[in-house]
Amino acid sequence: MHELGIVFHIVKTVEEIAAENQADRVGKVVLQIGEVSTIIPSYLEDCWKWKCSKSPVMAGCELVIETIPAITFCEDCRETFATVEHGKTCPYCGSGNTYLIQGNEHQIKEIEVADQEQ
Ligand SMILES: [Zn+2]
Repeated sequence: MHELGIVFHIVKTVEEIAAENQADRVGKVVLQIGEVSTIIPSYLEDCWKWKCSKSPVMAGCELVIETIPAITFCEDCRETFATVEHGKTCPYCGSGNTYLIQGNEHQIKEIEVADQEQ
C-alpha cells in the first residue's frame, strides 16, 4: 500500500526532527497533501495510527491533513489556473501546452511537541 510507505517516511522524518530538538514526544503533525496526489487520507490516517502506536516518540500523535490546491501553468499565455476545474486545457487561451506546478506533492508543514508531563 502506497500510503504505508508515505507514513513510514513521514514518521521517520518527524522522529529525526524530534531527536534533533530533544523532544520526547510529538503531539501533532500537520501534513499537506496535494489535491491531485494519489494519497487517500483515510488510508493514511489508518496507517498513521498503527505506525505511531509502535513508536514511543509518536504514540498518540495527532495527524492533521491540509490540502494543497492543484495549479497548472500555461506555457503559451503564462497564466496559472485551477487544475481540478479545468484539467489540462488552459481556460484563458485554450492551449493544451500546460503542466502541473503544484498539487501532486506532500510535505510536513508543522510539528508540535507534546506538553511535558508534570
Ligand atoms: Zn493559456
